[in-house]
Amino acid sequence: MNCIVIVEKNDNKIENSSLECVSIANKISENVIVVTDIQDEKIVKSINADTLLVIDDIDKISLYNEEIKKYEDSIFIMSDSLINKKIASQLSEIFKLPVVSNIINLKVLNSGFFCESSSYNNNVISGINIQSGGCIFLIKNNSFEIHTSNHKESELIYLKSKRKHLFQIKILEKKDVNNKISLSDAKIVISAGRGLKSSENWEMIEKLADLLGAATACSKPVSDLGWRPHSEHVGQTGIKISPEIYFAIGISGAIQHLAGVNSSKKIIVINIDSDAPFFNNADYGIIGDAFEIIPEIIQYLEKIKNVKS
Ligand SMILES: Cc1cc2nc3c(=O)[nH]c(=O)nc-3n(C[C@H](O)[C@H](O)[C@H](O)COP(=O)(O)OP(=O)(O)OC[C@H]3O[C@@H](n4cnc5c(N)ncnc54)[C@H](O)[C@@H]3O)c2cc1C
Repeated sequence: MNCIVIVEKNDNKIENSSLECVSIANKISENVIVVTDIQDEKIVKSINADTLLVIDDIDKISLYNEEIKKYEDSIFIMSDSLINKKIASQLSEIFKLPVVSNIINLKVLNSGFFCESSSYNNNVISGINIQSGGCIFLIKNNSFEIHTSNHKESELIYLKSKRKHLFQIKILEKKDVNNKISLSDAKIVISAGRGLKSSENWEMIEKLADLLGAATACSKPVSDLGWRPHSEHVGQTGIKISPEIYFAIGISGAIQHLAGVNSSKKIIVINIDSDAPFFNNADYGIIGDAFEIIPEIIQYLEKIKNVKS
């Protein structure tokens, strides 16, 4: 069985979510074909696959269907990102394959596959048997281990889309929205809400994030108020994340916020109000004023850091 993996990049780094997919593919398939639009040869060659297909327009993957169709008897694996949902729908149409999203577990059976898919904010886990020959699997971030050993000798193939001129949209400039850790890849996320009162108070949030090697996030009203960029907004209408640790500081825990974060492995809530709904979803809760607690945590972490160095 061939396994075709879509690999995405963020800045100059392959997304961890894509590395998770490559690891799954190498575990379950004897022939891994990576499809990516990363043009940097060094980065592409670092991906552990039998074949590396570099295309120039991953958004329009249907343009390369002739080349991809050569890999008969294939399944597709990709992270459950917005762009991959678009890619999956094109592949599903071309190859007449079912799509299963939000996958947190995947096994190959004697005939077909078994996977577990998380839904309703991780409150429901569905077990799904796929008996058809192929399938398109969309993998939920941070659900699988990344393995880096046994790097294969890969064949590197560059493909140019013949019908590229049909598309009128041209990217003139790309601006980094966050030059630190990518929110969807981060193992630790420090998120803050309206309880922080104003944008200036994010200095302590950023400091805490730096000390913990974490990404920063925020609630919707915070980005609506312009205190933080929209790229940091998590929740039902924002980014959905599942880090190892999610710190919610001065965030009430409205259902729409929880929708984007409650599949985090551990949730630590800091809120001045003991009745804040977020405490019902917390693994650890600190009732108190963020303006007293955060500086104390920072001071403690700096002390440890100084002792170590
Ligand atoms: C259709 C729809 C979609 C939505 N989508 C989203 C979404 O994707 N993401 C999202 O976040 N929201 C979303 N919302 C908004 C959501 O309903 C809440 O209004 C929002 O999450 C509240 O943000 P908050 O917790 O930062 O602010 P607030 O509700 O104002 O809560 C502030 C919290 O800070 C605490 N606090 C105050 N001072 C301190 C202090 N000194 N120290 C510690 N704690 C303190 C308070 O006790 C309070 O719990 C959506 C709403 C709708 C209707």
